[in-house]
Amino acid sequence: NEGVGSWPARRARKTPRRTALIHHDTETTYAELYERTTRLAHALRTAGIRRGDRVAYLGPNHASYLETLFAAGTLGAVFVPLNTRLAGPEIGYQLADSGAKALVYAPSHAGIVAGQPGSTDVRSYVEVGPEYEALIAGASAEPIDQPVGADDTCIIMYTSGTTGRPKGAMLTHGNLTWNAVNVLIDHDLIAEERALVSAPLFHTAGLNMLTLPVLLKGGTCVLVETFDPAATFDLIERHRITFMFGVPTMFDQVARHERWADADLSSLRILTCGGSPVPTPLIAKYQERGLTFLQGYGMTEASPGTLFLDAEHAVSKAGSAGVPHFFTDVRVVRPDMAPVDVGETGEVVVCGPNVMPGYWGLPDETAATFSDGWFRSGDAARVDEDGYAYIVDRIKDMIISGGENVYPAEIEDLLLAHPDIVECAVIGVPDDKWGEVPRAVVVPREDVELDPDAVLASLAGRLAKYKIPKSVVLAEELPRTASGKLLKSRVRKRYGTPNS
Ligand code: AMP
Ligand code: MG
Repeated sequence: NEGVGSWPARRARKTPRRTALIHHDTETTYAELYERTTRLAHALRTAGIRRGDRVAYLGPNHASYLETLFAAGTLGAVFVPLNTRLAGPEIGYQLADSGAKALVYAPSHAGIVAGQPGSTDVRSYVEVGPEYEALIAGASAEPIDQPVGADDTCIIMYTSGTTGRPKGAMLTHGNLTWNAVNVLIDHDLIAEERALVSAPLFHTAGLNMLTLPVLLKGGTCVLVETFDPAATFDLIERHRITFMFGVPTMFDQVARHERWADADLSSLRILTCGGSPVPTPLIAKYQERGLTFLQGYGMTEASPGTLFLDAEHAVSKAGSAGVPHFFTDVRVVRPDMAPVDVGETGEVVVCGPNVMPGYWGLPDETAATFSDGWFRSGDAARVDEDGYAYIVDRIKDMIISGGENVYPAEIEDLLLAHPDIVECAVIGVPDDKWGEVPRAVVVPREDVELDPDAVLASLAGRLAKYKIPKSVVLAEELPRTASGKLLKSRVRKRYGTPNS
């Protein structure tokens, strides 16, 4: 059995009494996790779920998310995590698109579930809480012996959709296993790991960069529903957290918090940041606090670990996303797939046992994103003489001004170093003379009156003239996905007209 669903059984055989999950005051040992997932698998089978059927989950981070994933995996069924921030019709789309037959949901989402039209294939609804517990208590605990292969689909995960309609990335049991092995090797994870899981489990990073690798190794995951900087300090101290993974905005909020200076952070061993461009000033802030910041670059379609900057090179190669994970291959290529020269910008392409076989039900889109077996990321990067990659930006976000390529991330990095700027996005706006010119949309600190001209003046001499924004727009906040990724398309829509 090569399935991820067999992990609780294997862990229960080796380390039954170790704590797998902590959620508020509830602790689940590996033996309990195995028993509960086995019972849940029986209950799902009784409800008619068979190999290949889809089982959806909608709710914030909670032990039942992982139990449902492992239970579905035990049956060879496919787990479909849904984003808790989606609106009713968006959830309806993913339920219908995946053809889910069962839906496990949190009480917080009962309203949105009740509002779903009857046109989906969902026949079994289970609400987490008394109903879910009764289902588990009433089911058999007999081991289930369903063969599952490495190439069977384990999860359909909808990509966060910063562009267009969400597509379901099919991640196989093999994809998730190889990704977890990559993370274990490259992070030097140990069995004593205590991970803080405040990134949402319905996105790939929270699940695959943190939770599954730690559970594979026999460590403990502390699950929290939402990320909150103040609570983060309490949790780190109370649980002696060793491992955190977050997007840059999460780590930024932690570093800006009043407890930053005096909190006891001595237990932290591994801090990995990724999911969107990591500003170099943020890396420096953590270094000043004596904390090494590792960087991960990846995408849902690669389960997601692709590039990784380890502790040994975190300082000497700061700003780089590192080198490929151990079992993964990455190239930076020209449009004809030929590798770029040192220093030249090209597209990141990925190949390896962690890369998905394709998008659910979308053979044409799948074919369009692979070239010669390489998955095309749509990200622009360059590589230095040691083979370290620097993610430059999304190729689609590139601005062409007077024939020059302008990558917004480079300008955003400098703006974020400004003490009065909390968030920013640089977009292209149409211009009669240059075709397009950069515009900065900035969120100033609440207590300051930011002077746009002074902001532009601070960039003079540090960037080529054509990269300096021609205008600055002040905003109260920027649109982001649930995983903290900036929604550039929405920023462009709102702030991208020439005279706004
Ligand atoms: P997703 O589709 O949600 O899995 O997001 C994948 C995308 O996030 C990548 O294609 C990149 O554009 C971006 N991304 C992820 N990690 C990084 C990173 N460390 N630096 C820059 N961009 C990143
Ligand atoms: Mg993507």
